[in-house]
Formats: sequence, C-alpha cells, structure tokens
Amino acid sequence: MNEPLNSQQLLIVVSAPSGAGKTTLCDRLLEEHTGIVYSVSCTTRAPRGQEQDGRNYFFLTEDEFDERLAAGLFLEHAVVHGHRYGTLKSTIEQAFADDKSVLMDIDVQGAAQIRGAVESYPDGDPLKAGFVDLFIEPPSMDVLKRRLTERAEDRHDEIQRRLAVAENEMSCRNDYMYRVVNDDIDRAYHELEKHILDKQRGICNG
Ligand code: 5GP
Repeated sequence: MNEPLNSQQLLIVVSAPSGAGKTTLCDRLLEEHTGIVYSVSCTTRAPRGQEQDGRNYFFLTEDEFDERLAAGLFLEHAVVHGHRYGTLKSTIEQAFADDKSVLMDIDVQGAAQIRGAVESYPDGDPLKAGFVDLFIEPPSMDVLKRRLTERAEDRHDEIQRRLAVAENEMSCRNDYMYRVVNDDIDRAYHELEKHILDKQRGICNG
C-alpha cells in the first residue's frame, strides 16, 4: 500500500510518551510514503548517538534558539524534558511549497499550539484542511515502564522523570483526533497509516 500521498497535502502531527514506539512508526511511515517529509525541529539538547545536525534536529545554542524565537520564526515551541524544542515556520512552508505532506513529531504542548493556530485559520486554508493529529500510546503504563527500562539508554532518575512526564502526556490523549495503541508494532502501524490515508481521501473527496 505504497501510495505516495502527494495529491493532497497533510499536516500530520504525532505525539506520544517517550517509549511508546513513535520513532519506529514514524520512520516506517516516511519510508513507505515518499510524499511525506519529516519536519526537522530545532532543539537546545545535545546530539545523541548517531544523530546528525540538520537531519534529526537543528542543534542550537540557547542564544540561537532565543534569536529565532525573538524573530518570530517558530510555528510552535516548548520545553520538553528540560530542553527547548521548536518547529520553524519555514520548514512547513517549504514542505508545502514542494507539494509534500509533512510529519511533525512533537510533544503535547506543541500539538496544542498547532491545533489552536490551525483552528483560527480560515476555512479552505490548506493547513487547516490537511491537519490531522494522532496520539500513540502504550498498552499500559507498566508496559511503558518496562520498555523504558529495557531500552537502558537513560539513567534510573531519567527513566523516573520520563515516566512522570508520560503520565501528564497521557492525560492529553483525548485532545487528538485519533489514538493508536501500540500493542503490536505492525498492527499499530497499519492503523496509523489508515487514519492518515482516510484523512487524505476525505480531503480529496470533499
Ligand atoms: P527527543 O529529545 O527524545 O528526541 O524528543 C523529546 C520530545 O520532544 C519528544 O516527545 C518529541 O516529540 C518532542 N519534540 C521534538 N521536536 C519538537 C518540536 O519541534 N516541538 C515540540 N513541541 N516538541 C518536540
């Protein structure tokens, strides 16, 4: 089912608590649908592992982040896990200019900002028409805790902190158009993909 998804553009927002499997699902979506591009965010956190500047994130200093904020260049921004993150307006504009749909992997605060902004746009605005937001959740908090612990990427106190943040994020899940429970990665992927394709068909038909 490799539809290129570029006949009608979508603004796809995906949020999830850390450890819910969002990265795996988003990577597969981008791999199978060349009509969707990933919105590379800015962050003040340091690169991890193999992460590359401009590919995974634009890694900025606090001052560089402040400059962009003061210049009004962010579509949304938030502090997550003690670091600052933001999406540049130009990233979304460029994707739409290139006839692409865009996938934003952002936290619940950023998603709320985008939702609010999009709602205020006039009917017929392409960003409003193409907006779809999805929340990916773990089957339970116990499963999330196990996944975070097994991943062992983070220290014990960091895992505890991420769990506390996760509980807050889970409390926002009903604000999203769709909730996808990641009980099985393949099943969850197909559900996520179906919601997105349905949204696109809805737009095309409507
Ligand atoms: P990580 O540092 O582990 O890559 O991401 C931490 C969290 O920040 C994730 O929940 C991710 O969705 C969120 N995030 C990444 N980029 C942005 C962004 O541009 N804006 C907002 N609001 N959150 C972001």
